[in-house]
Amino acid sequence: MARKTVLVCDSCGKEVEESKGATLRVTYTDARRGSKQADLCDDCAGSLPGRNVARRGRKPKSAAAA
Ligand SMILES: [Zn+2]
Repeated sequence: MARKTVLVCDSCGKEVEESKGATLRVTYTDARRGSKQADLCDDCAGSLPGRNVARRGRKPKSAAAA
């Protein structure tokens, strides 16, 4: 039996259900500062600034014809 890993939102502390939530990754322009990462629930991810970014390499199914 695999131990279930419980993910907790780094913003509000709520438990993030499996296959839900998001990972926020901050990468500094100055590479020496590295990057940091946070696990977020759907609510917090949605209220954060940011814009949708198309996945690289593969076109989204819905936009395949365009
Ligand atoms: Zn949250």
